[in-house]
Amino acid sequence: MKALVMGGGMSGLATAINLLDLGVEVELIEADEMFGGRASSWLDEDGDMIDNALHVFFPYYKNLMRFFEKMGIADNIAWKHTEFYYAMPGGRKASLRFKDIPAPFHAAYAFAHLLKDYKDIPRWKIIVAGMPMTSGLFMNIEQLDRLDSISMATFVNKYGSLDGLKLMEPGINGLTFTPSWGVSAKVMLNWGVKVFSSAKNARVGFANGGLGEIWVDNCLDYIRGKGGTVALNQAVTAINLEGGQVTSVVVNDSEVKEADIYISAISPYSLRRVLPDEAFDMEYFRDLWHFQHAPSMSLQVWFDRKLTDIDVTFFSTDCIFNTYADLSNVLPHIFKGGSMFEMVLSPADHIQGLPDRVIFDIAIEQIRDIFPEAREAEVRKWKVVRERQGVYRASPGMESHRPFQRSPVDNLYLTGDYTKTHVSSGGMEAAIWNANKTAELIAADRLDESISLNVEFEIDEPFMKYIRQITAGAIAVGGIGALALMRKMRKR
Ligand SMILES: Cc1cc2nc3c(=O)[nH]c(=O)nc-3n(C[C@H](O)[C@H](O)[C@H](O)COP(=O)(O)OP(=O)(O)OC[C@H]3O[C@@H](n4cnc5c(N)ncnc54)[C@H](O)[C@@H]3O)c2cc1C
Repeated sequence: MKALVMGGGMSGLATAINLLDLGVEVELIEADEMFGGRASSWLDEDGDMIDNALHVFFPYYKNLMRFFEKMGIADNIAWKHTEFYYAMPGGRKASLRFKDIPAPFHAAYAFAHLLKDYKDIPRWKIIVAGMPMTSGLFMNIEQLDRLDSISMATFVNKYGSLDGLKLMEPGINGLTFTPSWGVSAKVMLNWGVKVFSSAKNARVGFANGGLGEIWVDNCLDYIRGKGGTVALNQAVTAINLEGGQVTSVVVNDSEVKEADIYISAISPYSLRRVLPDEAFDMEYFRDLWHFQHAPSMSLQVWFDRKLTDIDVTFFSTDCIFNTYADLSNVLPHIFKGGSMFEMVLSPADHIQGLPDRVIFDIAIEQIRDIFPEAREAEVRKWKVVRERQGVYRASPGMESHRPFQRSPVDNLYLTGDYTKTHVSSGGMEAAIWNANKTAELIAADRLDESISLNVEFEIDEPFMKYIRQITAGAIAVGGIGALALMRKMRKR
């Protein structure tokens, strides 16, 4: 049996690997001039490493970790302290430092640590906004699902303080490229469940090298080693359907390719452009038109001297960047000399039309405001990355439009981080979980084999489990006291 995998990002490469393991013949085609999709990197004209964007890994990315272990590259993630820094104008800093103590005390400690130095918002407002953010820990899946109908800001405003939410805005923007008023409350609470469930899960890892460098070639070697083929510059330009089956796909408007099964690992925007009109008679494919692009951009700035000695993630509010790191501290063996800031610019809706130079000018002014050391420093080089950006906008209601990996077309499967999963609204763990799910479905449908590739995240802290059980019981008897209390406090 031959499979044609369309798209060579993380989900496409992982699907190809899963299918080869099942004994399926695989051909993978990619439109771009490099593999890795949004999780890629390359060398520029000076030989400097350019990441498509700053990516962080979390220990709760269980399926991604298993995938990296299988590829022999688990050590390519550089794990750091469980800490996030807030960098504020005038060089002020505060840190959310998770201590390695049982949950939820680790989170309480982290917030207490932050409040010591974070003075820009009244403390009570931060506490009152922080409680709804962590409330997902006490909800079951159905309760979380219901929160996909409202935005994060609406949810926090119900029980907490919008002023306090400002502190969480950089994290929300960095994860979803969307402001809190436009992003599903479920999406953010789902993330909170993982990070606030234990100190271990809040730990952040960085690519120990270029983002694509740490994983792409190992995957390509694995695929070729198992007899699979991969090709670049092969854009799918049409998918032909007949009698409820894909009969062929057209590549670069000319070459026709045939297989027994077809796996789309391309974005929903690309896919809906190459499907024939009759596909949209089916609601399943009409749903693809609900996906909107939440744009991002990336900025790398090389300075002639050190601006910080902090080797974890920074957050800043009221800037065009939100989440960033000084890679000269994160990866000192690679970025030698002065600081190198790698920054995610998002939401980028209002800046994406601006020229690179204007974007850099805005960013450097904000950097100099936050890091006084930068006022004297010389910028050796800067780079705005616009390619391979964005995620789908995780607006309220979007969860119901994410397509299941088995499509109504008999031999067509969809994968990619945007397809259906409870894991998250996107990101690398979702890309791998969905690649595993796709292979599980293909094994069942085509090979009559029942396989189980995905492992699920579970809260394993005993105390947290106990609290969840008690809270679930309390909710069952009608006690949503904590939230009601917060509401009362807010009204006062
Ligand atoms: C700025 C930024 C920061 C991020 N930070 C994080 C992070 O910190 N942690 C995290 O977990 N995730 C992060 N992500 C998300 C992560 O990069 C993605 O979730 C993951 O890479 C998605 O992989 P994918 O295979 O689903 O999609 P993609 O990587 O988009 O792969 C799709 C592939 O299909 C190809 N393609 C498209 N159209 C066609 C066509 N017609 N024919 C053939 N090929 C086609 C594309 O070129 C691409 O290679 C970030 C993303 C961005 C943009």
